[in-house]
Amino acid sequence: MEFTKRLKIQVLGGAREVGGSCIAVQTDSCKVAMDYGAKLEATEPKKLPKDFDAAIISHAHLDHTGGLLGLCKNNNPTIVGSDITRDVTVDLLHDMVNIQNGKGNFEFDSEVAERVRDSWWSRDAVALPGMKVNLQSAGHVAGAKMISLEAENKRVIYTGDFCLHDTEILQGCKLDTLPKKPAVLIMESTYGGKVRPPRSDLVDEFMQQMLTVMQRGGNVLIPTFAFHRSQEMAKRLDVAIERGILPRYNVYTISNLAHRIDGYFNKNRGLFTKSVKQQKTPFNYRHVKHLYRTSQIQEPAVVVCTSGFGHAGASLRLLSDWANDKRNCVVLTSGYLPPDSPLKQAKEEGFFKTEIDMVTVNAEVRQIELSGHADQTELVEFVRKIKPDRTVLVHGDLEQAELLSEEISNLTDVCIPQENETFDV
Ligand SMILES: [Zn+2]
Repeated sequence: MEFTKRLKIQVLGGAREVGGSCIAVQTDSCKVAMDYGAKLEATEPKKLPKDFDAAIISHAHLDHTGGLLGLCKNNNPTIVGSDITRDVTVDLLHDMVNIQNGKGNFEFDSEVAERVRDSWWSRDAVALPGMKVNLQSAGHVAGAKMISLEAENKRVIYTGDFCLHDTEILQGCKLDTLPKKPAVLIMESTYGGKVRPPRSDLVDEFMQQMLTVMQRGGNVLIPTFAFHRSQEMAKRLDVAIERGILPRYNVYTISNLAHRIDGYFNKNRGLFTKSVKQQKTPFNYRHVKHLYRTSQIQEPAVVVCTSGFGHAGASLRLLSDWANDKRNCVVLTSGYLPPDSPLKQAKEEGFFKTEIDMVTVNAEVRQIELSGHADQTELVEFVRKIKPDRTVLVHGDLEQAELLSEEISNLTDVCIPQENETFDV
């Protein structure tokens, strides 16, 4: 009698929330982790298991990689992912170590961050005992991959974070190149309940907003993330000025980390769209200047800087300096803002609190979502084309996952697991 062996999936993190993504897949002969993220705001970070044959990393955002310091401490794991994911991840982990050390937490040092680099296998396909793993482009950010895995004659696809739409610098995920009809699709649902206008409309809206503020001689603050969003924004502004869509203006980036990542992007230019690939150093901008500190800014100016949510760094300083003047503008390009972020307060309350005082916001605050995540329309399209038997929704709060579930339940079985929930496939 034929005995069907089982495949076990456990959602260790990223269940009903965005943060700490980690999914274990186990057979009798092999156990892998797909992503190994950390919940950064957690006071007592969750200890993930370490007994994996490999950790396969979808992309270089810390909610997918932040646990790797813990995995590599006193341990010699195998980590699989793309080249640029490795380089950016290691930089972000060094940054994390510095911040933690600065707060008096010495659990990790820079040696552990370097061990992540040394443990990395940079490839698109790996064979493990009884298991084949393939990585394919996911859109979202440079080097982001979807993970498809075959074991015990079953197929599992994990999307990581993805989008189907192309952006100015990166192509979206190509559906026709992905395997179809998996037994299980594990899919992100960050914007599962949201339908966005077409990308080109949003880019037009952004340009119109920039033009309006530039014409009134205001400053524009664009808080953003050092990895990918900074390069995408700088390139967008650079090209718009080059083509005369925007006038010449003082445009700056302020983030040493972003500046270093510009270099990785130049080195890996084959990852990007055709027009970007054709340039020798596409991320050396002609009309956007890198500054080391805010005191070097010549106003009026457009500044692209970190941190993305305005908690710290140049973005918090400029928010404080520029909030008072109604000619100025803050442009938020992320759809999600954490509840405690100064930017969320500035947008919704018209003031924000710093450690020392409360700042009134007279400046305009505009949210124009230039997101790297699929919206509901794209998520439904993905399920329709991939035709999974069962779809497991992760990386989205319960409300977003439930709204998406309603839209796809006629196409697939859907479940929205809780943390640590296990499935047999
Ligand atoms: Zn991401």
